[in-house]
Amino acid sequence: MKELTNISVIKELLAKYGFSFSKGLGQNFLINPSVCPKIAEYGLAKEGFGIIEIGTGFGTLSRELAKNAEKVVAVEIDQRLIPVLDETMSDFENFKVINADIMETDLAKLIDDEFKGLKTAVCANLPYYITSPVIMMLLESELPLEAITVMVQKEAADRLCAEMGTRACGAVTAAVRFYGEAQMLFKVSRGSFMPAPNVDSAVIQICPNNHYKKMVNDKTMFFKIIKGAFSQRRKTLANSLSSALSLNKELLYDIFERLGHSKNVRCEQLTMEQWTELSNALSEIE
Ligand code: SAM
Repeated sequence: MKELTNISVIKELLAKYGFSFSKGLGQNFLINPSVCPKIAEYGLAKEGFGIIEIGTGFGTLSRELAKNAEKVVAVEIDQRLIPVLDETMSDFENFKVINADIMETDLAKLIDDEFKGLKTAVCANLPYYITSPVIMMLLESELPLEAITVMVQKEAADRLCAEMGTRACGAVTAAVRFYGEAQMLFKVSRGSFMPAPNVDSAVIQICPNNHYKKMVNDKTMFFKIIKGAFSQRRKTLANSLSSALSLNKELLYDIFERLGHSKNVRCEQLTMEQWTELSNALSEIE
């Protein structure tokens, strides 16, 4: 198979299959030859691993994954890409594509059926329009994943990998941190894609763990306060939480004092440990 990052090869495929990129499906395909091997390596494409890929495009990253992993199962929503993949992935017996929406795919069953005896990881150049929903779905389903290695828009990467207790953090930062550790791996310029998007991208990795899950007494309370606080981040935490939880502000001030926070504390000042403490204290109120 000729190099799928080669523009003339892509043009040949576009013409042969009458394919046109769908903006709505986030179709920006990788054309920078140095990027896919790097994502695949960070993404745990190696012996003993089964990889779930989300969104194949013409198969540029899929090929790199299949070259190195034991098995690759990709979920691709666009039916027009299936015949293209039949051609571009024909030399890999360890690759399978499922024509479906990732948000409607039973991944626990997929892992059970396809990856017996293998460790599993997710690796993808994500369609940007569903970055957060996909990441949250993967984490919330509590799948047995070693890592989630994904390319996302640089701005989303900054938010996902931010430190809690800094201005860069948001509700999604806390939500991801609840389920694991996120880290920025490397940046990818907009020129690495065809068609080129308007913004740069970055590859991040989330490794699920139980650290905060074990510390938080009431998961519903944790997510309620995070959502309530960050959706009104300009307000003081006391103001946003008193409206989100329908609680008297004096009661909140008492809890803040006990936890060592000032009355005017804001959501972006709390570390993950402090959110955990606050959530636990609020869950104990009758
Ligand atoms: N992996 C390829 C690459 O790096 O060149 C393509 C990446 S492109 C950013 C995103 C891919 O995800 C497209 O192939 C698109 O059709 C697919 N996609 C979009 N929405 C999807 C969904 N809900 N479920 C599965 N695949 C989806």
